[in-house]
Amino acid sequence: MLGFPKQGALEAKKHLDSLVERVPPKYHPELHVLYDWVTDGAFQAALREPTTENWKYCKESMPTPPYLYIDKQLETSLAGPLLEVKYPEVKGIQPSCRLCEEALAGNVEEKVKHVVITCSCGRMYCHKKCADEYLLQEAQCYICKNYYIYDFKNSGLIATIVGQI
Ligand SMILES: [Zn+2]
Ligand SMILES: [Zn+2]
Repeated sequence: MLGFPKQGALEAKKHLDSLVERVPPKYHPELHVLYDWVTDGAFQAALREPTTENWKYCKESMPTPPYLYIDKQLETSLAGPLLEVKYPEVKGIQPSCRLCEEALAGNVEEKVKHVVITCSCGRMYCHKKCADEYLLQEAQCYICKNYYIYDFKNSGLIATIVGQI
């Protein structure tokens, strides 16, 4: 936001001072509000790790949250901690089957037959053969106890992945 650093109170203060010098005084109150935002712990955490949870938490914990900015971030943020997003968001990664760990496709754009197995815990991208075998043995997830949802796709993995975000 306006070049404010994502962490470091001292850097943020320096940046505030330099903006104050360059910007007409009538905008200074806004700059200070911005400074309060970027030095807020919850807001900094959300900038570093822009998950849906972190942005929602900002709305609750910040004294004067920037609702418009946060809503904008929420439109594009990922659900859950980023660490749980195991499957390729980036072109060039070679996606592999969650069950046998062999390649599913050469890259996320290649059209490929695959199955997405879903339960409350998340999604697994698998070969059809692996998914069929797995579901014969395990119709329910042993963690959340829900029945798996089986979704056969014949498309680039990127389409499946982008559809989920
Ligand atoms: Zn497999
Ligand atoms: Zn589950």
